[in-house]
Amino acid sequence: MVNNCTVPAISQLEETIKSSARAAGFDLCGIAPVTRSQELQYFPEWLAAGYGGEMKYLESRNDSGELKRSSLENAAPWAKSVVVCAINYNSEYPYSTESRDKSRGWISRYAWSKQDYHDAVLVRLRALESQIKDASGKAGIRSWSYVDTGPIVERVLAKYAGIGWQGKNTCIINQETGSWLFLGVILTSLELRPDIPAPDRCGSCTRCLDACPTNAFIAPYKLDATRCISYLTIEKRGKIPEELREGMGNHLFGCDICQDVCPWNREAPASRVAEFQPRSELVNPALEWLAEMSQEEFRATFKDSPIKRGKYAGLRRNAAVAMGNSGERKFIPRLENMSQDENAGVAEHARWALTKLK
Ligand code: SF4
Repeated sequence: MVNNCTVPAISQLEETIKSSARAAGFDLCGIAPVTRSQELQYFPEWLAAGYGGEMKYLESRNDSGELKRSSLENAAPWAKSVVVCAINYNSEYPYSTESRDKSRGWISRYAWSKQDYHDAVLVRLRALESQIKDASGKAGIRSWSYVDTGPIVERVLAKYAGIGWQGKNTCIINQETGSWLFLGVILTSLELRPDIPAPDRCGSCTRCLDACPTNAFIAPYKLDATRCISYLTIEKRGKIPEELREGMGNHLFGCDICQDVCPWNREAPASRVAEFQPRSELVNPALEWLAEMSQEEFRATFKDSPIKRGKYAGLRRNAAVAMGNSGERKFIPRLENMSQDENAGVAEHARWALTKLK
C-alpha cells in the first residue's frame, strides 16, 4: 500500500514517483517539504544535554560550524524536497515480550534478516532515484539517497511526508502497517508537492513509556539514547553503566520492547520481501552459542548482517550481562571462563554476572 496523498489535484510527477516506489518494492512513499521542523530545532539542545552519548557522528558540522543534523539547509542547501520511502520488515515470529525463556537471548527484529537492510533498501532507493530523474525530464537534477547514513534522521522526514506519525516511543507508526518499517530517503533538487503529515494517534496511551526497562524516555517523544538498550548493546563501547545492566534483561543486540507493546503493532502484517525473511537461528538465540563464538565464526555468521556493528567483543559482553540477568546457575562455569577473557570488557561484565548469579 502506498500512502495516499490527501491533497487534491496531485501532479503527474508526484503520482509517477509513488507508483514507481510501489514498483520498486516499497510499501509506503510520501513527499516531505524542506522546512525547519520542531524536531530538528530541538536537536542541538538534545545533543548538548548529552543524550547522544558516544555517537560522535551526530556532532558533525558544516563549513560554517553549524550542526548538519539540525537542518537540511545546513547539510544539503540545494535540496528542495524529500521523497521518503518505507518498507515493512515484520515477521510471523512472536514479540520479545512474549518470550518467556530467560536462558535465551534477544536480537532486535530488524536484525534477523538474511541481508543487511541498508543494502536491500538502498538498492531499491537508487532504482527509484534514477526513475525520478528520468520522469522529471529535466537536466542537472541533483539528488542523494540514503538509509541511516544521511544528515537528517529519516523518521523526522517520514513524519512530514505523511508516512506515519512519530509515536511517543519516537518510532514512525503507520495506522495500517504499524512501526516495523525500514525508512529510506531521496533528497532532490526538484520542487515537488509535499504530502500532509499523518495525525498523531497515540492519544492517552503510554504503554511504550511504561514498558521501557531502563527508563530511557525523558518525556513522551523524547529519548535519552544513553539509557536505551539499543544504544547500550550496539553503540556503547567498553563498560556498560552498572545501574543499567539489570534492565537490559536478555537483550544482545538492540531492543524491541517499546514497539512490541504498541497497540498499533498488534495486527502488523508480516513482510514477504525475500531479503527480510528471518534467519531462525537469530530468533531468541541460545546465549551459549554467542558467548562461545570464535572471532572467525562471528565474522562468517554476521558477514551480511547489521549485527556486525555491535562488534565481536560487544556481543560477548552483552551475552555475559544476559547470562547474569537470567537467574540460571547453569551459566556459572561459562561465566567463570569468560571472567578470564583476554578482552578486559568481556571479563569485567562476566565477573558482574557471576556476582549476580552467586
Ligand atoms: Fe504511542 Fe502507545 Fe504506541 Fe507508545 S505504545 S508509540 S504511546 S501508541
